[in-house]
Amino acid sequence: MKKIIETLQLNRLLHGIRKDFLQVGDSITTSASDFQYPIADVLMSGLAMMFVQDPSMLEFQRRLQERKRSNNLNTIFGVENIPENTQFREILDPVNPSEVQVSFETCIRALQQTRIWSKFRVLDGRYAVLLDGFEFFRSDKRGCPHCLEYDHKDGRKDYAHKCLAVTLAHPTAKTPIPILLEEIKQEDGTKKQDCEFNAAKRVIPVLAKQYPHLDMILVGDGLFSKGPMIIEVKNAGLSYIFVAKPTDHTTLEENIAGLRLCSGVEKLEIAEDNGTKKVYEWSKDVELNGSSELKTNWFSYTETLKTGKIKYRNSWVTDIKPTRKNIQELVEVGRHRWQIENQVFNVLKNHGHHLEHNFGHGKKHLAFIFIILNFLAFMLHQILALSDKLFQATQEWVGTKDGLWLEIRVLLNRFVWKSWEALLNHMLDRSDEQCLECESQR
Ligand SMILES: [Zn+2]
Repeated sequence: MKKIIETLQLNRLLHGIRKDFLQVGDSITTSASDFQYPIADVLMSGLAMMFVQDPSMLEFQRRLQERKRSNNLNTIFGVENIPENTQFREILDPVNPSEVQVSFETCIRALQQTRIWSKFRVLDGRYAVLLDGFEFFRSDKRGCPHCLEYDHKDGRKDYAHKCLAVTLAHPTAKTPIPILLEEIKQEDGTKKQDCEFNAAKRVIPVLAKQYPHLDMILVGDGLFSKGPMIIEVKNAGLSYIFVAKPTDHTTLEENIAGLRLCSGVEKLEIAEDNGTKKVYEWSKDVELNGSSELKTNWFSYTETLKTGKIKYRNSWVTDIKPTRKNIQELVEVGRHRWQIENQVFNVLKNHGHHLEHNFGHGKKHLAFIFIILNFLAFMLHQILALSDKLFQATQEWVGTKDGLWLEIRVLLNRFVWKSWEALLNHMLDRSDEQCLECESQR
């Protein structure tokens, strides 16, 4: 039987990531060999900066190194030489983003060995991954040759960078985990529906190849419920639950209306004690549109309050056969798309991760590399919050997430710790763990 790990500590995860980072950059040795810092050190330094949510971390650790001959980038993140600021960005710029993204997979593999993993299961052992686009840079000045261009009516231009995030999530768990990012490119178009659609078409085969043993359901909004996308998803061997708004799908709606007349739509009604009425409806093998033979399953959910007011209504298409047994779970999974918006982008933008902070643009991939490192750091936070007992205890002790990271930053900027665990134990007042300096004076 497979060994189940109870606690997934930061050390173990960082060790795996460092191993991945040591493989990065073979293709760019010609330019990188002029630099004195190994790419792995530079990537780890960037990750550390995002992990502690401190753009000036490198500066503080350099000072600690000068004064105390040791620093936390070395003791916790395994960085041998702290890269100097300009080289730091020059070295990262040409790095191939997909080589850095390998670490998402490494962390997911570690998570799969824990008890927590089973909590992500939905609909008979499948895993729901949500697709959603977001913007991480916008300015009226061009940042790099790859900036997306947006024309204003008055002739002004905006420049932006956008990305499509693939996130593993569960309707009842508050900890979605990003697993892959796809940068939206100039050739993807500027309209929201075009650019996210094209980026999704590119990322789906990559996703399927990277996680071949995961029975994944792609969950997305109305812009994905189009024939070509559904064919792409099925070709990759994945499942889907996509919002299908009646206004976007007139043929589908007409078909459903026809099926209703001949009892082709099944229904489940639940009356709550407070007067709320929940109505689930579904139908199998309906034609998606008039232009292709493509058939799909359809389901909808309507929640009506005691007053008669409709509180929520939505409909979806899916390849999973809806039944009386799974219909409620199908709706739950379809509805929790908002988790990305609320719990990933919101946290990254507003709770210290500096998602929209311009860490640097470079000429090639720098802006995107920083976003990948930021999401990797966020993933580490989520995994620690889910599975590391020591981290959970520290977070509980401090009270708030923001407070926790504030305290960690202060302690990391002022003292050198022999390990992450030593730092957390000190915060918990749990043992006689002290920073290295105090230890040596004892
Ligand atoms: Zn740019």
